[in-house]
Amino acid sequence: MAVFQSSCAYCGVGCGLTINHGSSSNTSQDMSPQLDEVQNSFTLAGDESHPANFGRLCAKGERLLESLPQPTTLRYPRLSSGKVVDWDDATQLIAEKFIETREKYGPNSVALYLSGQLLTEDYYVANKFAKGYLQTANVDTNSRLCMSSAVSAMQRSFGEDVVPGCYEDLEQAEVIVLIGANTAWTHPVLFQRILAAKKTNNCQLVVIDPINTATAKQADLHLAINPGADLSLFSGLLGYLADNDKLNPSYIEAHTEGFDKVIKPAQKLSANLPLLAKRTGIKLALLEQFFELFASKSKVLTASCQGVNQSIIGTDCTNAIINCHLALGQIGQVGSGFFSLTGQPNAMGGREVGGLATQLASHMGFSPQERQLLTAFWGCDDVAKDKGLTAVEMFDAVADGTIKAIWIMATNPAVSLPNSDKVAKALADCPFVVVSEVIPDTDTAKLADVLLPAQGWSEKCGTVTNSERTITRQRGFTAPKGQSKPDWWAISQVATKMGFSGFDFEDNAAVFKEHAQLSAKVCQTFPQKKFNLAGLANLSKAQYDALLPTQWPVTDAKQIGQQHTRVFTDGEFATPSAKAQFVAAESIDVEPIVYDSNATGLMAQASVLLLNSGRSRDQWHTMTRTGHIASLRASVPEPLLVINPTQLTILGLYDSQLVKIKSASSAAESSNAFTAARVKIDADVPVNLAFMSMHWSKQFSLTSGVNQAISAEVDPVSKQPGFKCQPVALSPL
Ligand code: SF4
Repeated sequence: MAVFQSSCAYCGVGCGLTINHGSSSNTSQDMSPQLDEVQNSFTLAGDESHPANFGRLCAKGERLLESLPQPTTLRYPRLSSGKVVDWDDATQLIAEKFIETREKYGPNSVALYLSGQLLTEDYYVANKFAKGYLQTANVDTNSRLCMSSAVSAMQRSFGEDVVPGCYEDLEQAEVIVLIGANTAWTHPVLFQRILAAKKTNNCQLVVIDPINTATAKQADLHLAINPGADLSLFSGLLGYLADNDKLNPSYIEAHTEGFDKVIKPAQKLSANLPLLAKRTGIKLALLEQFFELFASKSKVLTASCQGVNQSIIGTDCTNAIINCHLALGQIGQVGSGFFSLTGQPNAMGGREVGGLATQLASHMGFSPQERQLLTAFWGCDDVAKDKGLTAVEMFDAVADGTIKAIWIMATNPAVSLPNSDKVAKALADCPFVVVSEVIPDTDTAKLADVLLPAQGWSEKCGTVTNSERTITRQRGFTAPKGQSKPDWWAISQVATKMGFSGFDFEDNAAVFKEHAQLSAKVCQTFPQKKFNLAGLANLSKAQYDALLPTQWPVTDAKQIGQQHTRVFTDGEFATPSAKAQFVAAESIDVEPIVYDSNATGLMAQASVLLLNSGRSRDQWHTMTRTGHIASLRASVPEPLLVINPTQLTILGLYDSQLVKIKSASSAAESSNAFTAARVKIDADVPVNLAFMSMHWSKQFSLTSGVNQAISAEVDPVSKQPGFKCQPVALSPL
C-alpha cells in the first residue's frame, strides 16, 4: 500500500489529505493511473498530522475522488470551431495574437484573469509573464471577489497583507466572534474545531449574521444584524471599550498611530446605545451583552468572511474590527485578534506572488524601488508601472473594447462575476479569448477562441497556502488526461514563443525556488516585510517534493515544518513607522438598510427585498467540480430562493413557486437575461432578505445564476463587489 500526502482542492481551510493506493509503489509518479481508474485504485482520508484539520474532512473533501473523472473532460487543445490542435500550434497562435494585440493597442490591451484554484507556481509564472514581460498589471484573480476587502484592510492597518494569527487560536480563545461567516457550511472543518473548543474550553461563540444560519444556531449569542450595519456595530464597540475604560493605553501608545482619528466618531455611536441598537437591528440587551463579553475577556478572536468582505463598505468594516483588537493590544497574541477566513484553497498563495492587479510579487507595491528590484531579479526591461484593472473593471474594459485579448485560467467569470450576462456577452464579443480549463463545458469555456486542457487536482503538483499561512504541497497521483499540462508550463510556452527569456523552468520545483529566492531578496531590501520564504530559497527538488506543511514567515531552513506561528507578536508592524494604524472609516455615514416593518403597500415593502448570495453546504463555486456528484447534489437539487413566509405573503407568492429575480440595477435591467429559482420558505431568513446560492449557472440550470441579478457596485478601496445586499424584485415565472 503506497501512502502519500496532499491537500484538498476546495476551500481556504486547506485540509491535508492522506491518499492511499493499493500498489506497493511508494511514489506518486509511479502510480499514474488514468482518471477513470481512480475510484477503484485509491482511498482518501484526512491527514492526521496536518495542522489545518488533524484528520478531519467535510462532505466535499471526503468525496474528492468522486469528482474524478468529470462527465466531460478536456483532453486536447482546441479552437472555437471544435478543431483539435497540438500544444505547439495552440501556444504559437496565442503568442502571435498577443504580440499583434500589444503592438496595435499597447500592453494594457491584453489581460490575464486568474483563480485561487491555481497553484502558487502557476500564479507566479502568470504574474512574471504579465507584469514583467507583457508589462501590464491587468492581471487580476477571482480572489478579488473573495477576500480583497480583508487584504486592503490588513494592508492599511498592518502595512502588509498578513493574517496575524493561526487556527490554533480557535482552541485558545475565550470568545470567538464569527461575523458574516456561515462557517458550518463554508469552512466546515474549522467549525468542527470551534465546536470542539466550545466543549473542552467553554469558549463562547458569538455569531453576527442577518440570517439564522446553521452556524448561528450553534452560537451562545446570535446577533441578527441589519445588512450593512457591521461598520456601525464595531465602531460603536470601540467607543464602548473606551467609555468603560477597557482600552490598552500602553499598547496604543507604543505600537499604534491614528487612535485620535477614530475614537471620536466611535464614541458618538456608543454614547447612544439604544440608537445604535436601532441602527444595527440588534436588540439593546443583546448588543450590551455582546459589548460586555468582548470587553471582559482577554482572549477574543474575531473571524470574518464574505458577509463582511463582499460589501461596498467591506474594507472600512474590516478596519473597524481590527481597530477594536488594536485598542485592546490583541494583535498577534495567543487566542485573540483578527482572522480572515479565506474562501479558496490558494487565495493566499496567489497574493504572495502578486496575483492581484494592485500589487507586485512578494507583497511588493509599485514604488520605483520595488519595481527596480523586480526588474533586475526577473531580467526584463521593466515591470508594469502602476496598478492594473481589478476584476469588475477588467471585464468592463473587455466590454468596452479596451481589452482585446484575455487569458482566463481555472475560473468561470461568465457566472461568478456580478452582472454575469454582461460579462458573458463581453467575452463573446472580445476579439481573442483563451481559457485554460479541466472541462470544456463551463459557461466561460464555451466562449473561448482557444481552449487549453489544464491539469486539475490529482494531476498537478505544486504548493498552496491556506488561510493561516501554511504552505502545503499538493501532489499529483494520476496520469495527465490526454495532453493536459500544468498552467505554469502553458504560460512559459507562450512567453518563450513571444521571445521572452526567463521561462525555461525545468519543473514546478524550479518555479517555487525562484519564487522563494525573490522573497529572500525582497526581505533583504525591505526587512520590515513579514512575508518571507528565505528559509525555502535553497530547497533541492527532493526537499521540495518532501516539503512538510510549513507556515510562513520562514526565515531559516530550520523552520521548515513549523506550525502555529503568529506574526506581529512584538508589536512591530510592516508600516514605515513600524506602528499599526487605526483606520478611520470613510464610509461611516453610509446608512445600513433597515427594513421598515410599518411600511404599507406591496410595492413599498417589495422594494426593500435584499438578495443575499452565498454557498450551499455541499457545493463548490459554479459546481464545475461538484455538480455531477449525486450525493452532493441531493441536498439542493435545483436553484432555490430562500425567503421568509411573511415576505412571501406580502409579495403574493406561494411556496415552491418558480419566480424571476431581477435586480434594480440599470445594467442588469437592460439585459433580457434573468435569474430564476423555486421559492422555499424559511423563517430563519429575515423578512427583508432572500438568500440564493451562488453555484447555479446555465450549465446546470435553465436560466442565469444569481449573479445576473447582482449589480457591479464595488468597495471603493478593495474594488471587491457587494454580493450580499442587492435590492431585487420578484415576479412569477
Ligand atoms: Fe476541503 Fe475545506 Fe472541507 Fe477541508 S473544510 S475538506 S479544505 S472543503
